[in-house]
Amino acid sequence: MDLVNEDETKMYFYENRLKTFEGWPFDEDCKCTPENMAKAGFVHTPSENSPDIAMCFFCLKELEGWEPEDDPEQEHKSHSPSCHFISLKKKVEELNVEEFLKLQKERHKFIIIKSCNQAITKFEDAAKLRRTEILKTAMEEE
Ligand SMILES: [Zn+2]
Repeated sequence: MDLVNEDETKMYFYENRLKTFEGWPFDEDCKCTPENMAKAGFVHTPSENSPDIAMCFFCLKELEGWEPEDDPEQEHKSHSPSCHFISLKKKVEELNVEEFLKLQKERHKFIIIKSCNQAITKFEDAAKLRRTEILKTAMEEE
C-alpha cells in the first residue's frame, strides 16, 4: 500500500478539509465555523437527512447535531480522546517523514477498525433476519 500518495494524504491539509464545508449550516457568530471545524481535523460528510455531519479524517469519528456554541476542538477531544491528530503537538507540515509515516500507520488502524465493525454489524443484522425466518418456519411446522 502506498501510504504517501495524494489520495491518502490529501485530508491532512487544512485547505483541503476546509473546501468540504461548502453548505455547512454554521457560518457566522458561532464557534463551529467551517474554519474551526477544518482546523480541528473535520471534513464535512453530509447526507440527505443530516446536513451537519462532520467526520474526523483521521480517527473517522462522526459527529452531528452541532450547536453554534460547540467548540470543534473540544468536541473532537471529548468524543475521540484516542485520536492522534487532535492531540498532535506540531503542524502536519512540520513533521518529518518518520513521524508522518507513524501517524499514517495509526490512521490506518482506525480505518481497519471501522471497516471491521461495519462488516460485523452487517453480519449480525443478516444473522438476526435469518434467525427470525428460521423461527417462523419452525413455528409454522409445529
Ligand atoms: Zn480524530
